[in-house]
Amino acid sequence: MGSARTQSTLLTFAEARQIVEECASRLSPTEPDTVSLLDALGLVLAEGLCADRDFPPFPRATRDGYAVRAADLASPSARLRLIGEIKAGGPLQEGLSIGSGEAAEIMTGAPVPSGADAVVMVEYTERNGKIVNVQRTVQPGENVVAPGSEATRGSLMVARGTRVTHTTIAVAAAVGRPEIAVCRRPKVAILATGDELVDINLPPRANEIRNSNSYSLAAQVNQAGGEPMILPVAPDSADELALLLRKGLDADLLLVTGGVSAGKYDLVEHVLASFEARFIFTGARIQPGKPVVFGEVMLRDRTTPFFGLPGNPVSTMVTFQLFAKPILDGLSGATPQPLPFAKAMLKSSFTTRTGLTRFLPASLGGVYDQPEVELIRWQSSGDLMAVSRSNCYIVVPPEREAFATGEEVTILLF
Ligand code: AMP
Ligand code: MG
Repeated sequence: MGSARTQSTLLTFAEARQIVEECASRLSPTEPDTVSLLDALGLVLAEGLCADRDFPPFPRATRDGYAVRAADLASPSARLRLIGEIKAGGPLQEGLSIGSGEAAEIMTGAPVPSGADAVVMVEYTERNGKIVNVQRTVQPGENVVAPGSEATRGSLMVARGTRVTHTTIAVAAAVGRPEIAVCRRPKVAILATGDELVDINLPPRANEIRNSNSYSLAAQVNQAGGEPMILPVAPDSADELALLLRKGLDADLLLVTGGVSAGKYDLVEHVLASFEARFIFTGARIQPGKPVVFGEVMLRDRTTPFFGLPGNPVSTMVTFQLFAKPILDGLSGATPQPLPFAKAMLKSSFTTRTGLTRFLPASLGGVYDQPEVELIRWQSSGDLMAVSRSNCYIVVPPEREAFATGEEVTILLF
């Protein structure tokens, strides 16, 4: 029952993306929850992480070598007298102070003693009992990180709204936080539609296929910090679809897959319209994923955003990443993240048709200073094998049709 839409009335990719970003920025995040540090990975900080002490807490040597006074090394070959050894984590030697003509052996991560203002690397020295000969000059401050220069006590190290990665975990650990406050994972209902679908634990009949989209979406939702709730498959019948949609609208976000194209049994829009849904857009000039639908439904005093994602497996994956992910970010309290675009050199030429922004499954390889990308041959947007062998999409702007080997192209990383 999908409405007939002409291409010219459809939004461009950039317009559709801008709309979801704007909607995402107006969403209120879920309630905060305190979780143990490693369980926070992939979730969003509901509090800022502050320094509980200066970072570093003492002038930290960044090299193994000798703590010295830079002024003593003005001449090319200085001779210094060794007066001690400072290892990382060793007892603080309060009395130890480096005077003129003196040095102390020091290890990476150890506090530079008073009097010294630099560390000279062991590689530039020669030791002879209690005497060290230095063949190089050093600048004051060289190989020493001043106390508080990374963060001063009480200052914000990681802002609220940051999605927790291994780097955030490191900061939380460094400031002594075995537990941190994160926004609760938004609940995302996933509803696959289509008479041809059977669930993965049942044998498909000759005219049926297995429901893979609910699982790929659940995986993408999980990875994006949401809590997927897979609903039973909805057949292509308005009444049963309505029942399941209503259930899905109890979640923080509803993702429907299939049934949004212009076919006779594409009922999703029609049934959502009967709930007085507000359709924010119905279609975008992209491939795969052109029939994508975005809107919201007010039911029982709460507004639930929803997406109708086209059922072809690659279309579902692409439209989730392009449009549903920012909404999930907004619900999670995350500051909006740009899509992970990059550039790479095209390994083999290809042609396509103009008119749509295309996201074509591709394989990114090459070496660090010459990333290379190549299209994966595919049988259009239902081709699961092709997408499973890809690790990015080549992004084709709507006005382009021919790409030459060696050209730099834009890619979208998964
Ligand atoms: P539709 O968007 O409903 O027109 O479906 C487009 C294509 O995607 C058809 O070939 C469907 O059989 C297929 N498809 C729809 N939903 C799923 C699903 N959940 N899992 C795998 N394939 C699907
Ligand atoms: Mg269908």
